[in-house]
Amino acid sequence: MAKKHILIVPGDGIGQEVTAVGKKVLDKIAARFNHEFTYDEALIGHVAIEATGDPLPAESLEKMRNSDAVLFGAVGHPKYDNDPSAKVRPEQGLLKMRKELGLYANLRPIKLFDELLGASSIKPEILKGADILFFRELTGDIYFGEKGRKNNGDTAYDVAEYSRYEVQRIGRKAFDAARTRRKKLVSVDKANVLESSRLWREEIQKLALEYPDVEVEYQFVDATAMILIKEPTRFDVVVTANLFGDILTDEASQIAGSMGMLASASIGDGTGVYEPIHGSAHDITGKGLANPMASVLSAALLLDISFGLKEESEAIISAIDQVLKKGFRTRDIADKTTDPSMILGTDAIGEEILKLL
Ligand code: NAD
Repeated sequence: MAKKHILIVPGDGIGQEVTAVGKKVLDKIAARFNHEFTYDEALIGHVAIEATGDPLPAESLEKMRNSDAVLFGAVGHPKYDNDPSAKVRPEQGLLKMRKELGLYANLRPIKLFDELLGASSIKPEILKGADILFFRELTGDIYFGEKGRKNNGDTAYDVAEYSRYEVQRIGRKAFDAARTRRKKLVSVDKANVLESSRLWREEIQKLALEYPDVEVEYQFVDATAMILIKEPTRFDVVVTANLFGDILTDEASQIAGSMGMLASASIGDGTGVYEPIHGSAHDITGKGLANPMASVLSAALLLDISFGLKEESEAIISAIDQVLKKGFRTRDIADKTTDPSMILGTDAIGEEILKLL
């Protein structure tokens, strides 16, 4: 029996709706497998700014540090998207959380449920069998380097910076994961142009000597963007820098049919944070249309990675698989062949997942 304390951090927009389903699934798992999960909640993002003026209040950070894992929703609000001059922004809460908790590796498994082969905009015969695990570096690169304006504000800059240590620690996690899978690693950079990428490649090449059983391929990011769509089955584990990973994983989300199906884990040396890859989706907030499966799959990753509860994690994935096999869909993963009566809202599809658990 596991005794764990889980912090629920729903954040903004549909983050609230999908995380509620994720929590119910964790509760169901605790009951079925006889674990004891206790919960607390914390604020982040726009809701935190509204309540306290701070996108990540000290109290939230403290609660994160004191929990065994965090189930996170999303941050963001249209108010800030349309106002680039806003000094306090929801995303600052997210970046600060990653930095303060030392979450340097973002893992994004991209695996297509067979039932959704038709939901992707990519041809099923190209997609079938695609199973990729992305490792995106999360605390360095252009997002965290020096930024500013010069020439009276007419020129802007963001510095991309990596240290050897930063590349090594994520590289090692990716090599270790490749060892447990199909033993293939693609390291993505832009070493033909960028100095930070040349250092990245040097360090991955050094690590490769320690993992002779893992086959390593080096790709430029522009090529990877193309191959992901042309031949997604070529990839097993992919490791890349923060900015490239941000873009490539959204592109790869189309392999899984929808952003609403993709979970991620952000891990480091302390508390791990588990979250859907999608944002706060204000276009559908409050309408009950959000697909909660990315949050439910995030809960599955949480059980597997932070608590080592593999069987429980697989039970969740299997429940989702069965819900899809029964023909249930949310609107984002429905296609023209879907019976309209099988298209369910956020809570209703959550109930179907719970029934199967
Ligand atoms: P988004 O991911 O919120 O939405 C993109 C599109 O996908 C929208 O049409 C949305 O309706 C749809 N979508 C996303 N998740 C879905 C789900 N679970 N079910 C069904 N449809 C879903 O990205 P965006 O519209 O570019 O950004 C909206 C806000 O979210 C912005 O403020 C942005 O800054 C923020 N954002 C936050 C995160 C995060 O918290 N990790 C990530 C990306 C964007």
